[in-house]
Amino acid sequence: MKKLRISLNILFVVCILSPFISFADDSECVLLLYHRFSDEEPKSTSTSPKVFRSHLEYLIENEYKVLPLSDVVQRLKAQEKLPKKCVSLTADDGFLSFYTEAYPLLVKYQLPMSVFVSTESIDKSYKLMMSWQQLREMSGLVDVYNHSIKHLHLVDQDALTLQNEITLAQERITKELGIEDKFFAYPYGEFDDNTYSLLNSLGYIGFGQQSGVVSNESDFLNLPRFSMSGPYATMDSFTLKINTLHMPVDSEDPKAMVISGDFMPLLTLSFSRSLTTYERANFSCYVSGQDKPELKWLSPQMLTVKSKKPLTIGRSRYNCTMPSEERGRYYWYSKLWLRL
Ligand SMILES: [Zn+2]
Repeated sequence: MKKLRISLNILFVVCILSPFISFADDSECVLLLYHRFSDEEPKSTSTSPKVFRSHLEYLIENEYKVLPLSDVVQRLKAQEKLPKKCVSLTADDGFLSFYTEAYPLLVKYQLPMSVFVSTESIDKSYKLMMSWQQLREMSGLVDVYNHSIKHLHLVDQDALTLQNEITLAQERITKELGIEDKFFAYPYGEFDDNTYSLLNSLGYIGFGQQSGVVSNESDFLNLPRFSMSGPYATMDSFTLKINTLHMPVDSEDPKAMVISGDFMPLLTLSFSRSLTTYERANFSCYVSGQDKPELKWLSPQMLTVKSKKPLTIGRSRYNCTMPSEERGRYYWYSKLWLRL
C-alpha cells in the first residue's frame, strides 16, 4: 500500500510539473528549404551565396547538429532520439548554382545536404540545371531525391501522369546515382488527395513547403520545411526558424489543401496535449495578405481557425505560433491552402 502511495505521489508530482517541464525537443528537427544560390532575380526563390555562408557559419559556431535528411527520417520513424539543435539542409529543383555556389561551402564546412531534382531538366541538359555527373561528384556530402520528372503542379492530374511523375523519376535517380530512399518533395508543395494517397501506397516520405518542425508526430507524407529564400533568408528569420519547436498538433482537419466553397476554410487543430492558459492566451495565427483569422477554442486541446476574408487564387497559408517557456523560442505550425 505504501509503495502504491509513493508511486501515486510521484505520478501526481509529474502531472503537476509537466506543463512546466520544457517540452522535449530531442525528437525534433528543423528542415530548411533552399532553391537557387544567387544574388540575381528571381529574388523570391534565391538565397545570396554570402547569406548561405553566414547560415552555415552560424550553425557551426552555435553547435547545431546538421544531419543528413535520411538520418532524420530514419530516427523519427524508429522513435529514436535526435540530437538537440537538429537541423537538416535541403534544396529543391537542382539548379546549377547549387553546384557552383553552395557545394564548395558544404565542402569547406563538411556539412551534408539533400537536393530534390526534377529529372527531365537533367536528362535534357537544361543550362541552368546540374548534370548527373555533377550530382555524382557531390555524393560524399549530397544526397539526391525525387522532385518528379517535369515539375508539374500535382493537382488534378490523371492517374497515369501522377504515377509516371513519381515512379519514373525515382527510376532515373536510382539508375544514375544508386539512391534508393523513397523521398519525394511535392513541386510547389502542392498535392491533392490522389497524389497524397498514391505517394502513401507507393511507400514514399513526402516533403512539403509549409513552415514547421518535424517530429515523430508529423505527417510523414507532408513533412514541413522552412523556406530560406528571398525575405526569409535574413539572419533574423534564420535564427528564429532554427530555434523553432514542433507545435504539438496531432491532427488537422481537413488534411487536404485544395479549397472550394466560400474560400474561407475552417481548419480544426487537435493538440496532443492540453495547452496551458498561458499558451492559449498567446496562441496567434496569421493569414497571408490579410487580417488575423478568427480563433475559437473548443477545448484546451482543440481549436478552429478561419480566415475573415476569402483566400486569393493560388497558394495561401495559415501560420500559427505559440511562445514556449524558453525565452525567444516558438512552436510553429503552418497550413498550406490552394485555391484553384
Ligand atoms: Zn521545385
